[in-house]
Amino acid sequence: MSRLAVLGHPVGHSRSPAMQNAALAELGLGEEWSYEAIDVAPDAFGARVRAMIAEGFAGANVTVPHKGAALNLADELSETAREIGAANTLIFEAGEIRADNTDAAGLLRALPGPPAGKRALVLGAGGAARAVVWGLAREAAEVSVWNRTELRSRDLCGELGGTVVITPRQADYELIVNSTAVGLGGEDPFEELPLERGAFTSEQTVVDMVYGAAPSALLSAAEAGGASVVDGIEILVQQGALSLETWTGRPAPLDTMRTAARG
Ligand code: NAP
Repeated sequence: MSRLAVLGHPVGHSRSPAMQNAALAELGLGEEWSYEAIDVAPDAFGARVRAMIAEGFAGANVTVPHKGAALNLADELSETAREIGAANTLIFEAGEIRADNTDAAGLLRALPGPPAGKRALVLGAGGAARAVVWGLAREAAEVSVWNRTELRSRDLCGELGGTVVITPRQADYELIVNSTAVGLGGEDPFEELPLERGAFTSEQTVVDMVYGAAPSALLSAAEAGGASVVDGIEILVQQGALSLETWTGRPAPLDTMRTAARG
């Protein structure tokens, strides 16, 4: 049996076990592979990962707050994980830990088209924003970054590229990505973020990394303005598909994963 897991704290809300177990079943690997959620506190993270290797785990996804710790624990890093400064995928092989990051590629795959040359506004400067800025800058988008705490957006742009923006003009951007946690706890995005409810256009693509059961208030308003929208579940599916392909070497069944992730 090859075991897989998502490690987080908390992790009970994660859609990854349902999504990945449905994918494994669809691939005919349901008897040999399984995927579970493991809640692990930050101070226990390193010891838990080492124990998983001894217990026969083949790999893991890593979510908040362990993405930085996962990077530090690894014996080998992909270039992507090293440059973003965070890992969301671990691969255990011959007692060693390899770390990768599929968040940036997941976002790029979820977009309706290539972002090259597009004016992009990234909201946030946490772990999710780092992957978004890195991915968009690498694909030659013109990236502006707004964050509630300006110092963090300055640090992020200094490291990964992009230009800090303090009062963005919504109409100037073809791509807007909410990679803050706003919306997760029911906050009003039009109170907390520099966006106006009625100012979206059909020329824009709006991405909300935050995911929940219902369409987010941000995406509902963007859709009402005619914008193309990408929700956090699609990004979850795409990053999870890339992790699954790394572990199993098999193409991920995206539609099965979408259905399972949406519950
Ligand atoms: P994080 O490192 O804790 O960063 C949180 C970010 O949200 C910071 O930029 C923070 O700004 C901002 N923020 C929080 N509350 C705010 C408020 N009331 N007003 C304005 N800004 C606020 O978290 P993260 O790992 O980047 O994750 C961010 C979100 O993305 C989470 O909801 C997570 O679930 C989601 N996510 C989704 C996927 C997916 O696959 N769909 C993948 C990764 C993350 P300050 O710097 O000012 O505190």
